[in-house]
Amino acid sequence: MEFILSLHKLLTLENLFLLVVLIILFTPIYVYSLRAEKKKLHKIVESKFEVLKKVFDVSEEAVLILSDKQEIIYANNTMIKILNLEENFINHILKSMPKIKIKENWIQLDELIKERVESSHKKIRTFPQVKLFIDNRHSMPINLYIDSSVVDEEYKVWWNIISVHDLTKEEERLSAAYQHKLTKLPNQLKALQDLNALYSKIHLDGKKIALLLIDIDNFSALRSIIGHEQSNEIIKKFAQYLKELASESNISVYHTFHNNFLISMSSIDSSDDVLILTKKIQNELASFYKMEDVRMLLTASIGVGIYPESGSTLNLFDNTFKALAQAEQNGHGRTQIFIPDNSTQEYNDLILFNELHEAIKRDEFEVYYQPIVSADNYEIVAAEALMRWNHPKYGFIPPDIFIPILEKTGLIIDIGEFVLKSVLKQQKRWELFKFKQVVVAINLTMYEIEKSDFITKVTKTLEEFQVDPELIKFEITEGLAMINEKIASRQMRELKKIGIGLSLDDFGTGYTSFSYLRKFPADTVKIDKTLVDNILIRQEDQEIVKSIIKLGHNLGMKVVVEGIESKEMAEMISSYGANYIQGYYFSKPLPVFEFQDLLR
Ligand code: C2E
Ligand code: CA
Ligand code: CA
Repeated sequence: MEFILSLHKLLTLENLFLLVVLIILFTPIYVYSLRAEKKKLHKIVESKFEVLKKVFDVSEEAVLILSDKQEIIYANNTMIKILNLEENFINHILKSMPKIKIKENWIQLDELIKERVESSHKKIRTFPQVKLFIDNRHSMPINLYIDSSVVDEEYKVWWNIISVHDLTKEEERLSAAYQHKLTKLPNQLKALQDLNALYSKIHLDGKKIALLLIDIDNFSALRSIIGHEQSNEIIKKFAQYLKELASESNISVYHTFHNNFLISMSSIDSSDDVLILTKKIQNELASFYKMEDVRMLLTASIGVGIYPESGSTLNLFDNTFKALAQAEQNGHGRTQIFIPDNSTQEYNDLILFNELHEAIKRDEFEVYYQPIVSADNYEIVAAEALMRWNHPKYGFIPPDIFIPILEKTGLIIDIGEFVLKSVLKQQKRWELFKFKQVVVAINLTMYEIEKSDFITKVTKTLEEFQVDPELIKFEITEGLAMINEKIASRQMRELKKIGIGLSLDDFGTGYTSFSYLRKFPADTVKIDKTLVDNILIRQEDQEIVKSIIKLGHNLGMKVVVEGIESKEMAEMISSYGANYIQGYYFSKPLPVFEFQDLLR
């Protein structure tokens, strides 16, 4: 109360005047000092901003500050590069607004900024792993951050801060590890990863899965003809075709090695589904290669592993590799499904036994030819006829599996006649078309030779086809079978009389002995592959092979060595004085048309 009274006393007119004067006097001073203070503050802020700019300019993170009217306040060096900004960009509006791809939508940067400004929570917005698209030129994978900051509360001025983290290198590094360099298809590493995932889902639909390993045949030879670049183009084109196949949801495609591809198929009902696909791939290869205008047939060998028939998932990949090796061994352009050893017995008796009867009628057997070259100049001087059974379901079944069953069932007689007829028919064709003709060696089992009508049948067939007997030869193995040596050697002498050559096959294996060389009137001895497999490293084998060659020569025989897989082996064997060489180094057994090409 007392205070109010005294205040009242003070508020006289004079005092009031005095107060107004004071206010008029001090206000400008106050305002001035306030401004000075603000200027000082501004300067501090500005110098701090300069420091920050320096930090940002060396940062790999790209930083852009836009005014609320989208003028550029600041862009660091990295951002200048990314946006390709011209000089004097400060205070100018961005020429073209970058677009951002978030999930499947393209959104302009300014729209994102607007959303950020208008949103109620003022937290920094993060867009991880989106795509930035600049000037409609190129896109890059980035992490994007958008924030805004009020610069002047009073005038409602704010700046938008855009920060970009370039993920190109990370993405490249990541994808390079999982991609084939040439075709950009997922690679073997990715395949192994995906296969684990695939296997883990097997039980879900109760269906089968299949792996297909594709190897373009003769690729290094092809490359030496058409060159590195063009052969790469073929690989790329083939990859593109396989990629299209992979648009089916149950198919994935991988580029594992240079001319090797892997396909995985899930949810299949039977091996037929796989064989339809392999046929399609084979046909495609043959057709698109013609378009390349290079006169060479393009084929692929395909190994197939099917779960569960070909083994557990643990071994499926390895077994598919084995199937491929087998397919390649069978010649070019073939498909082979892996059949595990432990089921061979069951497979022999149950399936093959019944089917072998039909196989000849259905034309499932085919004779392949493997060249035999002269040891002096490596020129083709003969060939061995080797049988192939192209099973409609299992692909190529190796002779080692079906020949013993044929022997057991006596069907070997029919098959033997089939091989002889095929070879003679072929010789006749070569004669008519004036091809270079070489001796063809036909494998014969003791079982066949012992049959009393064997010689008559051979003579008849020779007459039927009108072929010079000297153009064929029989290869016989002593084997373990109980044979009547007297009958066998008599039959062989008969063959010699007709003019047909005889070769003692598989010499050096457990079944043969030196006495065998004297027993039969053969003109050639063939040293078995098992004796030369380790010849480069085992001196013992070198000595054995050398002495067999010498012995053969002493007995007036020619010597053939089979199973030669490298240049070094070929050179070693010819230095030992062998007459002829046979082996993968020169050529695998080939279908007749491919063999004919070699002859030419
Ligand atoms: P074989 O008479 O010892 O035939 C040689 C085998 O070695 C062939 O196997 C041939 O493809 C393979 N070979 C040749 N060079 C190499 C090489 O450098 N490396 C390797 N790893 N292997 C090589 P194929 O064709 O699987 O024949 C296996 C066996 O089946 C033959 O052994 C032969 O005893 C028998 N066979 C094949 N066709 C007939 C036939 O028409 N009649 C009879 N009775 N038996 C046949
Ligand atoms: Ca042979
Ligand atoms: Ca052999």
